[in-house]
Amino acid sequence: MRRHWNTLRDIPIRQKLRRFQLMTSLISGLCTTAMLVLIVWNVEYRKAEHEAGLKAGIVAENALPALLLRDSKTAEEILARLGRDSEVLGARIIEPNGRIFASFRPPDGNPGGAKGIAREGLLRMRVNTAIVSGGERLATLEVESDRGYVVAQILFYGGAVLLSMVLSMLIGNSIAVHLQRVITDPLSALVALMKNVSVDGNLSQRATITTQDEIGELGEGFNRMIAHIEQRNTALGNELAERQRVEQRLEHQALHDQVTGLPNRHFFRRRTDELMRDTAPRQGSRALLFIDLDNFKYVNDTFGHDCGDRLLIVVGERLSAAVRATDMVVRFGGDEFVVVLDQIANLPQAQLGARKVLDAVIQPFKMAEQNFFITCSIGVAMAAGPSENFDELLKKADAAMYVAKSAGKNGIRLWEPSMSNESRTRFELEAELHQALDNHELELHYQPIIELATGRIAGLEALMRWHHPARGPVSPAVFIPIAEDSGLIVRLGEWAMLTAFSQAARWNARFDPLFMAVNVSGRQFRDHAFASKAQTIARASGLAYGMCELEVTETMVMGHSGEAARILGELSAAGFSLSLDDFGTGYSSLAYLKRFALDKLKIDRSFVMDLPDDVEDAAITEAIVGLAKTLSMRTVAEGIETAAQAAMLRQLGCQYGQGYFFSRPLPAEQVAAFIANNQAEHAHRRGAAEAKPSLAR
Ligand code: C2E
Ligand code: MG
Ligand code: MG
Repeated sequence: MRRHWNTLRDIPIRQKLRRFQLMTSLISGLCTTAMLVLIVWNVEYRKAEHEAGLKAGIVAENALPALLLRDSKTAEEILARLGRDSEVLGARIIEPNGRIFASFRPPDGNPGGAKGIAREGLLRMRVNTAIVSGGERLATLEVESDRGYVVAQILFYGGAVLLSMVLSMLIGNSIAVHLQRVITDPLSALVALMKNVSVDGNLSQRATITTQDEIGELGEGFNRMIAHIEQRNTALGNELAERQRVEQRLEHQALHDQVTGLPNRHFFRRRTDELMRDTAPRQGSRALLFIDLDNFKYVNDTFGHDCGDRLLIVVGERLSAAVRATDMVVRFGGDEFVVVLDQIANLPQAQLGARKVLDAVIQPFKMAEQNFFITCSIGVAMAAGPSENFDELLKKADAAMYVAKSAGKNGIRLWEPSMSNESRTRFELEAELHQALDNHELELHYQPIIELATGRIAGLEALMRWHHPARGPVSPAVFIPIAEDSGLIVRLGEWAMLTAFSQAARWNARFDPLFMAVNVSGRQFRDHAFASKAQTIARASGLAYGMCELEVTETMVMGHSGEAARILGELSAAGFSLSLDDFGTGYSSLAYLKRFALDKLKIDRSFVMDLPDDVEDAAITEAIVGLAKTLSMRTVAEGIETAAQAAMLRQLGCQYGQGYFFSRPLPAEQVAAFIANNQAEHAHRRGAAEAKPSLAR
């Protein structure tokens, strides 16, 4: 039974309903039939009992005279009339003493029996009627009859009921089947939809609601649930996509430079790691270019960082445009860029690539309404074999770049084995330079600046010297850029100013007054308080402001908007002399010169070197002198090595000269002797001239 119930639980609702319907109609049909049978039985039995009672009453009345007359024969004849009734099985008159007065029993084959109804058992009915006379009971009439026809009737009714029940069940069932579909069809559709959704995961499917009953509610509930899940899924998908976007953005930010948008150092590391792992055969080799912009710091200082950024962007664009799409352009930091050229067959091809990059960078570009030039120094390193170590390549190209820088900038250098030592040396020097001042390894030498017309010493230029305990003398051309890069130049510069001005103050106390020129680095100008610091130092040195001269380079003054211009103005107002060093090698526009309170122009050694023979240099020098005159500035020619150069410069109208011809830069102890000699000689010459005025001219 339990198993049957379990199976019933697991079969489809459609079958379940059909079975329930069958069971209920069967049970109700059977109950109805049983009820009917009981009722019919009861009614028919009572009716038969009543009829039998009536008949027995009549027979008893008729039989009374025969009983009174003790005529049993007549009595039996009267009883025999009962035999006409086929149901009667027998009758007898029993006297109170139990004696049977008369009896009747139909012969076998009585038509009643012929009806085939059992004459034995429950179906027999016995009716006793008293035969009374004068209030005295004379005998009892007992009639026994067959009630089989009642059973037949019941069977008939039962059969009819059963038949109608079967019919009604069949009709009911077929109607129920149709009606049940109202329930089962939407249920099946819902189940099919659920299966679909769970299999293909398409959450846009919805149940069609056809009814407002529980199934309708179920469908609506399902739809709401699916909509909710779909909404959640969409939200989740959006969140996921947003997270992916953020992650991508972060990764892009981490791997790209904010200013130029180019890949950065991290990108380079990642990509080169991949390239180093990649063992697939490739065509050609790779070349790495290490590019450093020349004098970028000055651009930043003079024009401001916004301009510096714009310049970097332009350079980045130019680099990208100058190489192939398969090459890698990276902003490595500050003013350094790295380009990895792919599929390079040989060294000349790498050189060609570097040249293209250099040419692209040095194109003029407009900044602050000015056409402006920037140059760069490029170090090139080429992978020896197919498997390159990018760390090595980078170090080599970096070393080559430094060589290009120190060789005068704006150039390309290919890596050579000796260069790596140089770059190592540079790092060592930087570390050692930090200690140099405290260890008293730094010293100032002084180079006389001569008034060309008279040969009289007019001033001195302080030039820094580093006596390295192990390496010996280190050139300023080597250690000044290192000091600038590391920021150490600020301390060294202040030390140089104080030492030189103090020294000059002491010499001026002994000799005719001389000015003292000290070189100032662009890096020192980044300090907003530089002008007031210089004044403090000058005051502390005891040298008159008018004798304090500061040598600045063109790149430091070329912008008039920058901080440098303000500082220069302040210095000039305080009484400092300002001279423009290395004039002609930078980028400055002559138009700017008049905006600054500059006192002197120092004509670069490169223009003096080939004098007097080089006509072009002579023309340039003459033009510079003329320009300076127009702007009420004096000129100093640097690097005069011969009497002919000195004579020509004097002839061109240049006021001052400086160079090995007059004197090399001298240690302080020798300067006093030089000044003494020079001034004595000058005094002597002046004396002689005054004595023989006709020979002086
Ligand atoms: P500069 O200021 O243009 O100095 C002139 C350079 O020319 C000096 O080189 C000097 O020794 C050299 N010189 C002078 N006359 C002749 C000559 O007739 N022939 C040749 N071939 N060279 C001559 P030095 O001392 O090696 O200094 C190089 C540069 O280092 C200087 O160029 C200056 O820019 C920088 N420097 C030197 N001392 C300092 C300093 O104290 N502070 C700063 N910021 N820079 C300094
Ligand atoms: Mg100088
Ligand atoms: Mg110079």
